[in-house]
Amino acid sequence: MARILTGKEVVAALREDLLGRVAALGERGVVPCLAIVRVGERPDDVSYERTAVKRAEGLGVAVRRYELPADAGQAQLEAVIDEVNADGAVHGCLLFRPLPPQIDERAVCERLAPAKDVDGITAASLAGVFAGTGEGFPPATAQACLEMLDFYGIPAAGRRATVVGRSLVIGRPVAMMLLARDATVTLAHSRTADLAGVVREADIVVCATGRARAFGPACFRPGQVVLDVGINFDEEGALCGDVDFVAVEPVLGDDGALTPVPGGLGSVTTSVTMAHVVAAAERAAGLR
Ligand code: NDP
Repeated sequence: MARILTGKEVVAALREDLLGRVAALGERGVVPCLAIVRVGERPDDVSYERTAVKRAEGLGVAVRRYELPADAGQAQLEAVIDEVNADGAVHGCLLFRPLPPQIDERAVCERLAPAKDVDGITAASLAGVFAGTGEGFPPATAQACLEMLDFYGIPAAGRRATVVGRSLVIGRPVAMMLLARDATVTLAHSRTADLAGVVREADIVVCATGRARAFGPACFRPGQVVLDVGINFDEEGALCGDVDFVAVEPVLGDDGALTPVPGGLGSVTTSVTMAHVVAAAERAAGLR
């Protein structure tokens, strides 16, 4: 049976580390604080916000919520970002996207101070990922993939990694982060020829396409490590990943490993966001 890389243990280890760091900040009178900015009431956003608030509370991270109506204008949202930037007690900002069509999303993202960009949405954060320089933080989901590999002791150096999906939220940054770990990386997408073959060649596979159970047994071989980033709903409305977990797990064999959905990378992503808020608070306090 393939090794199942569950998020729970990774979350527990991150929690242990963060509790100590939050306590150390507390001794200096600093409470790390995350601003959550939401425009409208998209169920996905509301549900993620609930999870994030709970996770923050459990770690001693304060949360400030900014809720705007779905028809909020550019100036209204930019005023909120300006307020977050100016507030010395706020260390990080999570902005739910996509934003409604009347908003120029890129302009809003770029308005955020890179030092408070805990989800890698500014050009300055992406420069850090792509060029190894810059302020800010990598996108939390991309970082969650590396946390998963680290926790389970899976090295990337010298191994072939295929990332399927090339968005700036996950595909491209995780490809660059694996490259920085000395993996030999292939970045696949919707125009890739013989996608199954390209995936089968890799030692480490990251599936980030948003297609429910699209990766079946024909895409895999024994011994691969498969990180399933997808958060999708099937025809019955059940939450599932990009990988057909039940059919693929036996193909990977005893040497293989696979993240489940739910219970895999999603929960780690929330913890990574909190880790970035704590790191931002430490930077602001001159501790790192
Ligand atoms: P996007 O829709 O922005 O990007 C999807 C990518 O998948 C594109 O690059 C696209 O290729 C590629 N793709 C689509 N169809 C195919 C196909 N048939 N074959 C190969 N590649 C294909 O999605 P995101 O990157 O934002 O998200 C991807 C998934 O990750 C979603 O399920 C999302 O819910 C999930 N997610 C999970 C998070 C977590 O915390 N675990 C956080 C963020 C996202 P092309 O560029 O050619 O169009």
